[in-house]
Amino acid sequence: MLPYTTLPELNKEIRFLKGIGPKRAGQLLQLGIENLGDLLFYRPARYIAQGDIRRICDAKAGEIVLLKLKVIGVRQMRPRGRRLLEIGASDDSGRISLIFFNRNYLAESLKTGEMITAYGKILSRKGKLQIVHPAIENIEDQGEGSGKILPVYPLSEGVNQHFVRRCITGLFDDAPEVRDMLPGHVRQRCLLTGIEESLRNLHFPETEALAEAANRRFAFEEFFYFQLGVLFNRCETGKQSSPLIRADSKKKDALVQRLSFKLTGSQKKADQEIASRMASGKPMRILLQGDVGAGKTVVALLSLLRAVDSGFQAAFLAPTEVLAEQQHANLCRDLEGLAVVGLLTGSVKGSARKKILDNLKSNQIDVLVGTHALLEEGVDFYSLGLAVIDEQHRFGVMQRLKLQKKGQNPHLLVMTATPIPRTLSLTLYGEMDVVTMDELPGGRKPVRTAIRTPEQLDRVYDFVRNEARAGHRIFVVCPLIDESEKVSLSHVEGIKRELSEACLSDLSIGLLHGRMKGVEKDTIMKKFRDGEIQVLVCTTVIEVGIDIPEATVMIILDPERFGISQLHQLRGRIGRSSLQSYCILVARDVQNPRLAAVAGTNDGFLLAEADLRLRGPGEYLGERQHGALDFRFADILRDQDLLKKARTAAADYIETDPGLALLDEEVKIFLKERFATFHERLS
Ligand code: ADP
Ligand code: MG
Repeated sequence: MLPYTTLPELNKEIRFLKGIGPKRAGQLLQLGIENLGDLLFYRPARYIAQGDIRRICDAKAGEIVLLKLKVIGVRQMRPRGRRLLEIGASDDSGRISLIFFNRNYLAESLKTGEMITAYGKILSRKGKLQIVHPAIENIEDQGEGSGKILPVYPLSEGVNQHFVRRCITGLFDDAPEVRDMLPGHVRQRCLLTGIEESLRNLHFPETEALAEAANRRFAFEEFFYFQLGVLFNRCETGKQSSPLIRADSKKKDALVQRLSFKLTGSQKKADQEIASRMASGKPMRILLQGDVGAGKTVVALLSLLRAVDSGFQAAFLAPTEVLAEQQHANLCRDLEGLAVVGLLTGSVKGSARKKILDNLKSNQIDVLVGTHALLEEGVDFYSLGLAVIDEQHRFGVMQRLKLQKKGQNPHLLVMTATPIPRTLSLTLYGEMDVVTMDELPGGRKPVRTAIRTPEQLDRVYDFVRNEARAGHRIFVVCPLIDESEKVSLSHVEGIKRELSEACLSDLSIGLLHGRMKGVEKDTIMKKFRDGEIQVLVCTTVIEVGIDIPEATVMIILDPERFGISQLHQLRGRIGRSSLQSYCILVARDVQNPRLAAVAGTNDGFLLAEADLRLRGPGEYLGERQHGALDFRFADILRDQDLLKKARTAAADYIETDPGLALLDEEVKIFLKERFATFHERLS
């Protein structure tokens, strides 16, 4: 996102552009183009250079090619009830058919005589060449496309290239002046092109290099403002005050006494870091990352007790109800006599809820454990001093901010078991300090992971039987992508039946999934923990937080349906004692790169990087978090060099202008809107 669209001259509705009526405006709106600025900065998905275009006679079946064609005939047919559109087209070297199913609306823009480009895989049928569902673009008859570089814009139904290009050309004919918002010295030092030049080269480049330079400038600019906002926030946060929480605490000491184990070096280091920050009276913002089983909870507990000892309340947020309930039970046990612990989730209703809220407000609850329900309005603390968010990857940035508003700038401890690749932590958590716990509590053996095929299940079950005889527990995990998916539900139930009736009929088998009631789940988990249930067939409800030292085997069915991080998280449920544990991925596709990655290492950092690379940032982060970044030109994976440059440039800038007073007014407005926490600090 860039600030230019807020300029008054660009913030005009698109229908004021010459030649654009309500219908056209509606079509552009589908592309996210509302005002002149949106159109001016509408980014081409790619560029076609004349040299990329192939001739039909040179194209072989199986190749993916770009052709420049003239439409010579259009046929609409209905073979066996399907709507088929066949476009006959040619260049000076031959003929080809373009085939579409259920896309008859395309006929409108593909009339005989039109010039188009078509991009797709060449097939040969009965000696004739064809492309099924090529990417089609109308190009102008002459001039455009000849010798130049042609931008190709993202489209939606009913809008074609030709139309978008015409709108943009129209806009440039009568171009509103745009002033460059990037500070001049930053632009010069980073060797970036000016705004006018960049806009021209974005849409009408003479060479590919110029198009590239334009795109890079805008990508840099996006990163620059983003980093500026992050760094500014960070400086401002440093100036604020937060509850003063003393590092020394009797309650904390009492808990340490109670623990049946000694803290690891990593735990101690993390604890000291957190404690000294909270004692400074400045806001503590720490992202605590440590692999599953690293023992983050204890670290959080120590801090919670410090807050309580200093007279503040604390909040502990978990991503799901099951986990909130489990954490609540754990905290009640661990903090008995030290702090009053309450629970608030979506299922706490009516008078129970009212009682909790009253007690919270009157300071009769020290630590409130809960889910999102905790962020709702009406949940008022007496004096929130510290908020802990467990398993951050399920939380969005906005939720983090909401929580902060529940007190007088409470300290914030975010814990995650999904290691965040460094590139991402710089952008997503730039305003936080990252503390890493890289030591596992002593005596643990790394989990061994193997990939097996369904044909080998008999042997897998023999292995399970042996482990069960040794008094160990076994998870059998089935995918349940969406908890409302009936099909998958029958899947877990089916597997359970199959195991108890046939393969493992000599063992006691339980079932656990997200559709069960809280009490029901608890009972099952208890039985599993106690060994009354030996094999637990379950969905990913067990993904995070559940802790059973005797669980040594995890069989994951259809693991292809899980992501790398999720598999790694799941695997973290075993290997929680000095017993050797085994994770068995039962896959049809043993070559699957994600499975290979998971089987190849237990290092969460390596897996996170692999995951990010294989999936790309959008999918990796999930829509919500990725949306918070909302870069149109920049790509956090591809443009890492630019990101670094922008970060350095932003840091330098802030040194010379710490209050951001010299920035363009529009940029300030933009940053203010973008970073909700900016408050009124930008004057
Ligand atoms: P995570 O970092 O995944 O949240 P937990 O906090 O749930 O890990 O800890 C996992 C298990 O390890 C718990 O049973 C906890 O009691 C235990 N644990 C934590 N710290 C230590 C330690 N220093 N020594 C031995 N066991 C520990
Ligand atoms: Mg945990």
